[in-house]
Amino acid sequence: MVLYSHSRLSAFENCPLKYKFRYIDKLRTDVSQSIEAFMGDMVHQTLEKVYTDAKFQKFMTAKEAKEYLKQLWKKNWNDSIVIVRKEYGPSNYLKMALKFIEDYFKKYDVANDGITIGLEERVVINLDKQGRFKLQGYIDRLACHNDTEYHIIDYKTNSHLKIQDQLDNDRQLALYQLAVQHNYRDAKKILLKWRFLAFNKELTSIRTREELKALKKDTIQLIKQIEKTKEFKPKVSRLCDWCEYRQICPEWAHMYELETKSANEYLKDDGVTLVNKYIELSEQKRKLVSEIDEKLDKLKEALVKFAKKRGVNVVFGSNNKIRVSITDHYKFPGKGTKEREKLIEVLKKLRKWEEIADIDTYGLNRIMKEKLWSPQELRLIRRFATKEETHRLYPSRINKEEDTQK
Ligand code: SF4
Repeated sequence: MVLYSHSRLSAFENCPLKYKFRYIDKLRTDVSQSIEAFMGDMVHQTLEKVYTDAKFQKFMTAKEAKEYLKQLWKKNWNDSIVIVRKEYGPSNYLKMALKFIEDYFKKYDVANDGITIGLEERVVINLDKQGRFKLQGYIDRLACHNDTEYHIIDYKTNSHLKIQDQLDNDRQLALYQLAVQHNYRDAKKILLKWRFLAFNKELTSIRTREELKALKKDTIQLIKQIEKTKEFKPKVSRLCDWCEYRQICPEWAHMYELETKSANEYLKDDGVTLVNKYIELSEQKRKLVSEIDEKLDKLKEALVKFAKKRGVNVVFGSNNKIRVSITDHYKFPGKGTKEREKLIEVLKKLRKWEEIADIDTYGLNRIMKEKLWSPQELRLIRRFATKEETHRLYPSRINKEEDTQK
């Protein structure tokens, strides 16, 4: 039986192929950790130490905690850590991490921050009675306040502050709540708390019994979907920038292959040649089509002029003929214009708005042409319309016998 986790489920949702690489093929890559993940890890470890010490009645100062983080950073740093945002260096990230700790101490009083029940606490969540669908997770900090109020706390070091709706729909901590309420039967209230360190904010969400029930159902559904998936397709997104499988992913592999080639080899690469040729021809086609369209428009104009001047409906060529259709139509002000707003006002006054609100100006045009409203109403609407001619050409082959008999 597979023991799932929130990150495993998210991996599938974010990119099924990445899920396959990581969890099914269990591929290990030599691509290193991103600086964001490294920084997050250092901050988490520092706060774990702060609260572990507090359990032993040893309370670190902000200065000591920052010094601890600095040492941890130095000990664990290696030059293969990837920095995607090239405009920032490792020192920027270290400064950020130190600022997070400094602000944390200003905002939270570690000595009076509830009783720590667990740090990096492993929980197992049973989604069904039979134990067929199970997940595991790690709570950054589980704390108890006023004896029966449990706080599930998650530290966030990324630079994205979630909005309340996102938190109220967040799956991870709500799943942990299922485990906490099962493990701690005295819990009268469970609060889900995110400490967004980059913003020095704590946001909270509370789940109802019904929401947790729906969460279990949805999560089981997702697991079933994962288990029946046969084709794990790549899903390109900005997360690809941080994906350790880019070099073997069919979406990016060719690009990486090209990076290893010399300038000469690069230009001789079949893929490069094919793409360049294809784009060149597509561009030529686009230009030709637009040139031809322009010529056709001019010919159309000339044919309409000719038909009008000669008073004919059909113009004959050597083997083809073209029927020239000229009809009038009303043109109304376009969406977003002031005139359009005035027109809507008039329609509302005439109590006609309801009638045409769900139809476009084509419908209004029909009302005008077929005189479907009273003359007075039509006069009012007419003020907004300009009359235009529609020209349509209908080319066809000339049937010599038929055409000469007529
Ligand atoms: S690079 Fe992007 S598309 Fe490819 S596996 Fe990774 S996340 Fe998926």
